Amino acid sequence: MTLNGGLMNQIKKILGVKFVVAIASGKGGVGKSTTAVNLAVSLANRGLKVGLLDADIYGPSLPKMMGINQKPEITADKKLIPLVAYGVSCLSIGFLVPEESPAIWRGPMVQSALKQLLHGAAWGLHHDNDLDILFVDMPPGTGDAHLTLAQQVTLSGAVIVSTSQDIALIDARKGLSMFQRVNVPILGLIENMSQFACPQCNHITPIFGHGAVKADAQKFNVPFLGEIPIDLKLRQSGDEGRPITAFEPDGLISGIYSQIAEKVWGQLI
Ligand code: ADP
Repeated sequence: MTLNGGLMNQIKKILGVKFVVAIASGKGGVGKSTTAVNLAVSLANRGLKVGLLDADIYGPSLPKMMGINQKPEITADKKLIPLVAYGVSCLSIGFLVPEESPAIWRGPMVQSALKQLLHGAAWGLHHDNDLDILFVDMPPGTGDAHLTLAQQVTLSGAVIVSTSQDIALIDARKGLSMFQRVNVPILGLIENMSQFACPQCNHITPIFGHGAVKADAQKFNVPFLGEIPIDLKLRQSGDEGRPITAFEPDGLISGIYSQIAEKVWGQLI
């Protein structure tokens, strides 16, 4: 029992990585990848050794959002070498497959690609062989990749991103209970695209509703990490491959990401 437990833990630990945190959402398009990228850059900005693994097989967006357009090289002992952008060591499932094909991947292919990215990469290579935290940008929903992740690594926790819209929240709750079932601590919920402040008149419009994610966090007794407004610059910066937290680290939006990132990190250490 002890021997098996010990062996399991060894298999599930990624060499040189202290904490692995999944960024998940019930639905696509709610801002999960945007959140993953900006939380990663926020923690790198304050000197932590950070990695970001894009495991979103349906729409790997890390290469675009981090402005990476090379393929990773391989070490002499055949490990993938992460590419560094804005201080963050990055790998994406998008590096392993042609752009148009990931969505048709089947279970076993997802599992082996994810396994390779988790355990077959030299995650700490650029940081004295040591990462403080590896964020994993999950595909939306609760499919094969989630189970693989739970089986392959000891997750330190999961962060769930949702809009305040009913339909997104219903799916986010499914994600929450899935992580709870496999004993992964929920580090908290984030409400994204919470409100829109008109740049002309400052009138606030809650386009996807407002406040429901916080209410859910209370209802399910998990931390509420914060809310991120709809912001044009944030959208543009993602499309341009220049995360807002990197090029405007002292701005309002970066401040919100930084507070959320501290709340996540604070729960791990
Ligand atoms: P997901 O990973 O959940 O599919 P993305 O992070 O790719 O979602 O975001 C979907 C789109 O919404 C992207 O174009 C992104 O730039 C935009 N977006 C995400 N969050 C915000 C926000 N708070 N304000 C404005 N645009 C946002």
